[in-house]
Amino acid sequence: MSKVTNILFSAVGQVTTECHDLPVTPLQPKEVRIAPVYLGICGSDLHVLADGHPFAKPPIVPGHEIAAVVTEIGSAVTHVVIGDHVVVDPIMACMECRACKAGRFNLCEPPQVAGFRAPGFARSAHVVPARNLYIAPKSIPMDVLAFAEPAACARHCVNRMPQDAREIVLVIGAGTIGLSVVQALRIMGADKITVIEPDAKKRELALKYGAYRALAPGELAADERFTGVIDVVASAATIMDACTKVMAGGTVICMGVPSGTREIPLPSMQRFERDLLSSGMYIPEDFETVIGWLADGRFDTSDLVTDIFPVSDAAAAYSRAKESQSIKVLIEFPQ
Ligand SMILES: [Zn+2]
Ligand SMILES: [Zn+2]
Repeated sequence: MSKVTNILFSAVGQVTTECHDLPVTPLQPKEVRIAPVYLGICGSDLHVLADGHPFAKPPIVPGHEIAAVVTEIGSAVTHVVIGDHVVVDPIMACMECRACKAGRFNLCEPPQVAGFRAPGFARSAHVVPARNLYIAPKSIPMDVLAFAEPAACARHCVNRMPQDAREIVLVIGAGTIGLSVVQALRIMGADKITVIEPDAKKRELALKYGAYRALAPGELAADERFTGVIDVVASAATIMDACTKVMAGGTVICMGVPSGTREIPLPSMQRFERDLLSSGMYIPEDFETVIGWLADGRFDTSDLVTDIFPVSDAAAAYSRAKESQSIKVLIEFPQ
């Protein structure tokens, strides 16, 4: 038996920290046991907690963003050793479908993502397939490494955008993902980045991370156009704005999670080849790339992680994450 601490969304709006004595299950040959050190709270976790997620409802153990230490490896595991610092891909892909065979595990259906349809990572010991682990250099502090998942989202998004669309870019929304997208754009060679964001502090960070201009909603000149627009909000108004503000031949990427169907100005898009792409989660090369960015400091998380709570105080952590002044809230598991 061993003591396992986990976070539970016990009911809608209700967060509890549990402690159980559980039997230690033996590992399958290609499995690894991990101990999370930091867990990040994401907007999608808050949707689950508020009962606003289409296929994950309380009671549920949440969590899909972690920096962890490997504590045990299965007999057939060769690429990680005990003590390795790792990031864990929460996509539990089937490995059999057309998407998986093409390496696009994010498109595996139905998606089995930790904290949604698959068991969440918010527990002090967890068993995952070895192939879901990415080893990180120990020089990266664990609270920085916990940012790999949102950074991977951002890298995937920018990588979806054709090179020529990255010239004059508009990013709508500068929360955790929007600010990560700004950094990914800068690292990946975008020229002029404009950000629209209502919160003044977040606008300031957008400038620090590489935007040359950060505006409040409504401040952009009506006739301004961009080669690429990334909509991190995906509301009815922002997606319409994104499709209207993109130049002929440009690219719009829907990066936010829309809460319903959206209207787009299809006539002007069709005639002038304004393309609408989307970005959903990430693939392995996104994790590999962002671990490099975190290791050499090109991707800066110092102002993005606004709060760290102990796991015993998980309820307070999720309340804090709901406040607009917080950016990324982390939960620390004792080692
Ligand atoms: Zn997330
Ligand atoms: Zn699959």
